[in-house]
Amino acid sequence: MEKRALFVNPPSYEGFDGGAGSRYQAKREVLSFWYPTWLAQTSALCKGSRLIDTPPQEMSPDDTVRAGKDFDLVVIYTSTPGYKNDARLAEHFKAVYPEIMVGMVGPHCTVLPEESLLQCKALDFVTRGEFDYTILDIVRGKPLSEVEGISYLKNGKVIHNRDRSLIEDMDALPSVLDVYKRDLSIEKYFIGYLLHPYISVYTGRGCPGQCTFCLWPQTIAGHRYRTRSVKNVIDEMARAKEMFPEVKEFFFDDDTFTANLKRVEEISKGLGALGITWSCSSRANVPEKTLAVMRKNGLRCIMVGIESGDDTILKNVKKGITTAQAMKFIKTCRKLGIVTHATFCLGLPGETKETIHKTIEFAKRLDPDTLQVSIASPYPGTEFYREAKEKGWLKKDSLVSESGIQQVAIEYDDLSGEEIFNAVEVFYNKFYLRPRPILRIVKTMIKDKETCKRRLREAKEFFSFMYKRKTNDRCA
Ligand code: SF4
Repeated sequence: MEKRALFVNPPSYEGFDGGAGSRYQAKREVLSFWYPTWLAQTSALCKGSRLIDTPPQEMSPDDTVRAGKDFDLVVIYTSTPGYKNDARLAEHFKAVYPEIMVGMVGPHCTVLPEESLLQCKALDFVTRGEFDYTILDIVRGKPLSEVEGISYLKNGKVIHNRDRSLIEDMDALPSVLDVYKRDLSIEKYFIGYLLHPYISVYTGRGCPGQCTFCLWPQTIAGHRYRTRSVKNVIDEMARAKEMFPEVKEFFFDDDTFTANLKRVEEISKGLGALGITWSCSSRANVPEKTLAVMRKNGLRCIMVGIESGDDTILKNVKKGITTAQAMKFIKTCRKLGIVTHATFCLGLPGETKETIHKTIEFAKRLDPDTLQVSIASPYPGTEFYREAKEKGWLKKDSLVSESGIQQVAIEYDDLSGEEIFNAVEVFYNKFYLRPRPILRIVKTMIKDKETCKRRLREAKEFFSFMYKRKTNDRCA
């Protein structure tokens, strides 16, 4: 008989945006949750399963464990920042239901299977790599010794089974929409720059980009962009429109949705025919011709990784994009009426006080509609982590504070952790406290009452987050 599986995006920290899909797992400046798409994907494969996404549901560890009552298998998604608390949750599950099987999935246990197992006695297994069919094998009762892509303990010894190959037939994976509908409350999912309510899905996995700091392509998804067919994507979106008429925007959360230009243009035309509003992730290297096709067919907003305003840093991290390309890209988007959300990262190799200043000035000239500033986090399994260890930049293991807020784990000869930490707030202030962004925000507020209320709430959250960060969570 098949096992009944409970998939858990755990309450690692209160308000933690840690589900697969979030690039830097942490509590954000404003309430922000990505969909737990990877878990939903596996749940869609396993009959009789259930998915609980505890942070947006505001579920405590006790609530979460109570939800395990009718299940034979608990699958916890974990991250490097959340592992310690997630391990405690696994132990809690095992203490309440000694018969239940408990496993962990995600990049952290892919990279550190041995440590993950040895540090948490409650775990029956951890998966390495893509875990969809791995978990399906376990649900179907395959003995652990025969399941590819797992590590487990036998007589106190860690056994690593053979690796599992990457999934090639992406169309064979079932749609996540039915799981979203069954198990999630979509009104609980917010991303500051997306319309509300939104839904995000993947149309492919993997990214050809080589960015040394980027977690998913280096640990789970790989550097080959494996995609669903255009028809499969359009059919799913047609269903999504029917199933979720209240959704204002669909977001394609692939690592780099625009990695294959021909495919993007074809998908855009299909989406245009459906008449939906959509947004996506992108690198800053898409030509105007393709952006125009995307815009004409319903693209509203693009999320683009800019990272730094210093070309040496961009080279150091193998971004494969220059500041000149970034400038041209944002200008083209503006010309076509595409809203831009740019992500920056402070503390990457080569960062100094001068490059931070240069990046802030660059961001002001670039002037995307909105931006986000993260702290460079060396995740185990990335080239950045290995480099940081080798060169002695790594000063701390922890990537977040006790409350889940991003912390600085590195330090350079000329730049302390505290300087990187403080620069985040300076960046936000220097960018947002200017007439142009303020006017842009006010304009969106006067458009409709709902947006006005949302922006006011976000402003309150932002300032209280910054205050808390400065007082309780400041870099030690
Ligand atoms: S382009 Fe984006 S998703 Fe791809 S490796 Fe670089 S940061 Fe990661």
